[in-house]
Amino acid sequence: MKVLIVGAGIGGLCAALCLQKAGHEVKVFERSTEFVDTGAGIQLGANATRILQYLGLLSKLESLAVKPYGVFFRNYSSGEILYSAEFGDRYQEKFAAPYLHLHRADLHKTLLDALADPKDLRLGAKVIAYQEKKESVVLKVADGQCFEGDVLIGADGIRSKIKTQLLNDSEINNSAIKPQFTGNVAWRGIVTSNQLPADFMDAVVTNFVGPKKHMVIYYLRQQQLVNFVAVVQRDSQQDESWVTEAPWQELKSDFAGWHPTVQTVVDAMADQPCYRWALYDHKPLSNWSSERVTLLGDAAHATLPFLASGAAMAIEDARILQRSLDKKDSIAKALQSYQANRIKRTAKIQAMSKKVGSLYHIQNPTLQNMAFKVVKSKSKKTESFLGGYDANLVELI
Ligand code: FAD
Repeated sequence: MKVLIVGAGIGGLCAALCLQKAGHEVKVFERSTEFVDTGAGIQLGANATRILQYLGLLSKLESLAVKPYGVFFRNYSSGEILYSAEFGDRYQEKFAAPYLHLHRADLHKTLLDALADPKDLRLGAKVIAYQEKKESVVLKVADGQCFEGDVLIGADGIRSKIKTQLLNDSEINNSAIKPQFTGNVAWRGIVTSNQLPADFMDAVVTNFVGPKKHMVIYYLRQQQLVNFVAVVQRDSQQDESWVTEAPWQELKSDFAGWHPTVQTVVDAMADQPCYRWALYDHKPLSNWSSERVTLLGDAAHATLPFLASGAAMAIEDARILQRSLDKKDSIAKALQSYQANRIKRTAKIQAMSKKVGSLYHIQNPTLQNMAFKVVKSKSKKTESFLGGYDANLVELI
């Protein structure tokens, strides 16, 4: 098949790699003219890393990553451990694939380098519309060029052009098209480990949780870098962009009075660019495919980052879409099968992420302790639901 993919994010590139490996002809269209280093980390569980292993990329990624040996949730000021769990070898043995922390730029470059031919990716190609015909689908790019294929995948993120046209054409789900501001903004930054005290933190994920805020801290790139994501509730709508800078003083004041570990990270950021990203999501869609067009990743199911699962969902989508296209005897049936296999799981993860975020931000310490007891009681089930999903083997509907 000739497959047209809009968007060269993690989702679009993983779809391209899965489809190329299965022998399909793929063209990826990306509006950016170059990829900027967004200076942020990403956590990937076994559900994602086993697909990267299938693509032959795992050992390369492991050499660039950190494998955390645990996760700790701590009270924002006292540092009291509210809940902890072991990852490391136990996790890898349980799921036969690792939990990794990666620099996004390292993951993205590894995916780009794995494309069969650099010409399979067209940079500076902003897609403006498509036309679905009986025998093919035609993509229109802003410079006037058109491209014809058998299938079109919209992997163009939360503000997907393809989603807007697809849902408008089908006249359903209209309320779900527009992303909604969730009332949260995320500060992001990376500091080099040698800027921090030698005993700063073990190779774990630490999540300091407090009233209306939390800060997640973890290492990247063989512990040479420390990444943080700090989420703060805000009333007013803010910019949504990986490259929107905001004043360090606001970060400092957002986390005034927090634990010394948090202060150490914030202070190390004083001379660095601080990025702030407004968090949007949209309601789960009840349909995201037509006869020849479908959506993937954030375009289909933008998810709050509190379970660190949005990119992992996009990677799972990629493998299930490829398997569905290879299994079914018509494209329309394959796209329905792909959607049926993905819609429940992704909607559940959207809902779980939202719920977990509200637990992190509980103001009353007694309620917070109770909430983390519940998190602990459900932790094995949640871990298996997320990491145990095997997109390489799961039986397709
Ligand atoms: P995107 O990354 O949005 O890529 C879409 C691409 O399409 C872009 O390159 C864009 O330029 C291109 N595009 C858009 N419109 C057009 C057009 N008209 N024509 C051509 N190209 C177009 N997920 C995890 O799994 N683990 C984590 O630890 C994690 N942490 C996160 C932390 C934060 C603060 C945030 C905000 C998210 C986090 N996520 C995490 C979620 C994850 O980042 C996203 O789910 C994932 O990046 C979505 O990938 P995508 O390829 O679907 O979309």
